[in-house]
Amino acid sequence: MALLRRQKILCTRVQADSATPGTHSMHRLSAVLRPAKSAKLSSLPAHRRPASHSRLSPCLIFSSYFSSSSSKMGSTLRPNNASTPFKVLVVGGSYSGLAAALNLSDMCLGKTARASVSYQDKVEPVDPIHAEITVVDERDGFYHVIGSPLVFASKTYAEKAWVTYKEIPALQASPNIKTVHGSVTSVDFAAKKATVKAVTDSSSSTIDYDFIIVTSGLRRAYPVVPQSGDKTSYLAEVTPHIESVSNAKDGVLVVGGGAVGIEMAAELKLVQPQTRVILAHSRSRLLSSEPLPDVLAEKTLEILKENGVEVLLSHRLQETKEVEGDPNTKIVSFTNGDSLRVNAVVVAISKSEPSTSFLPVEAINDEGYVKIQPNLFFPKEIPNSDSALAGGDLVDWSGIKRCGRAMHMGYYTALNTHQRMQELVNGKTPEYFTLQKTAPVIALALGDNAIAWGDEVTYGKDIAERFFSNDVGFDICWNILGMGEKPAAKV
Ligand SMILES: Cc1cc2nc3c(=O)[nH]c(=O)nc-3n(C[C@H](O)[C@H](O)[C@H](O)COP(=O)(O)OP(=O)(O)OC[C@H]3O[C@@H](n4cnc5c(N)ncnc54)[C@H](O)[C@@H]3O)c2cc1C
Repeated sequence: MALLRRQKILCTRVQADSATPGTHSMHRLSAVLRPAKSAKLSSLPAHRRPASHSRLSPCLIFSSYFSSSSSKMGSTLRPNNASTPFKVLVVGGSYSGLAAALNLSDMCLGKTARASVSYQDKVEPVDPIHAEITVVDERDGFYHVIGSPLVFASKTYAEKAWVTYKEIPALQASPNIKTVHGSVTSVDFAAKKATVKAVTDSSSSTIDYDFIIVTSGLRRAYPVVPQSGDKTSYLAEVTPHIESVSNAKDGVLVVGGGAVGIEMAAELKLVQPQTRVILAHSRSRLLSSEPLPDVLAEKTLEILKENGVEVLLSHRLQETKEVEGDPNTKIVSFTNGDSLRVNAVVVAISKSEPSTSFLPVEAINDEGYVKIQPNLFFPKEIPNSDSALAGGDLVDWSGIKRCGRAMHMGYYTALNTHQRMQELVNGKTPEYFTLQKTAPVIALALGDNAIAWGDEVTYGKDIAERFFSNDVGFDICWNILGMGEKPAAKV
């Protein structure tokens, strides 16, 4: 058994001046953002703002608040060699699951975790640990969920937003990761076994694991996200939608003034400027169901209007009727008596449900979210909870559900799994990273503009460039996840 070097938790802050101008490097993402050209609105007087929230930083958008702590869960030593690797099952291969798999892979290969360049909390590399990481997902690749508003407006972007796992260089270069195209249908935590239904032929198989990391996110309806399981079907699914909104001579109605509806209307207007785009919301204020201030909602409304989106507040959809003899035209009526003639109606108001039906009821709350401990392990009443973790949208934790939060939680599940592995192999006391309560933060892509909220509102084209670039954040997320990087060394 290899002797592991002492591992040290480093908490260093990446300096803003290490950013590379004109690129979206990790350093730049970690820099405190105070753009000279962007505008900002404060809802709290300066003396009432908490010190740590006094400036909006991309760290707040692309991460969560964390700290580290020490605890000991057990002391049984376990052999670890090529024939007794740790088997790690990751359920869900999106932002959180890929962050978990790739960073755990790095650390088990004896390298620095790739996400450590993005975040303040890091660990030094230690000797390799044999591990086999299996990522199971119902999709055959990474789908950039936050790009959905643009996916449904642009064929070129739709092609970019889904990358099959076999085309992701980092996965192909990680010898200890494999992907399975399937759906996890049940987990036996006592026996450490999961049942997986293959997407291609519906056959069922059992996967034994030593660790399970659950990152299966939320189930979202069409057209909030496409429903296909493979890239070919996905392109066939979104193309008719893109064509219908592109040829809408009477206009497109987007229903729902939450974050998704707002972004859908804004991206459609950007890509199809000739199309009349109307956004209808049942309440008198946009973003009415989010814990966000009026000042953000008001500025968002102003930017949408400047971009040419027509916004109808206090308009609750009543019914949509096709015009007789013209299936491409619809008459939409609202409960206040108003009506509209449009060619397409995009409903962006469905409630998303956590994808946790395969978990025991003791592990989830009334709404289906996983009841994690602050160190992201399952609750102690679950058998073998010291080898089961969860991260991303499906966990019961504070803050708005965002991809940055999901990636950061995925990174922490990797760090804490690796800590526990070291305890099992050589008895090292684990130093677990723990979640802190997170305040609501958000950034919304509004065409070539964007708006962000930490404790103040910032907006402008440079905010759009920094948080979303010109591809609704695809390259930014790709780089944070390190999906293009090849590991420098192999075990
Ligand atoms: C339209 C839209 C716009 C958004 N815009 C933004 C934004 O601008 N900024 C931002 O930060 N956030 C945004 N979000 C939120 C962001 O997309 C989520 O926070 C993020 O997707 C959460 O990532 P995750 O890895 O936890 O889960 P998900 O991305 O939901 O991924 C879960 C994965 O698990 C798989 N899966 C599910 N069940 C199973 C199972 N039983 N077996 C196997 N695999 C399974 C799924 O196929 C999926 O790949 C937006 C969301 C939407 C819908």
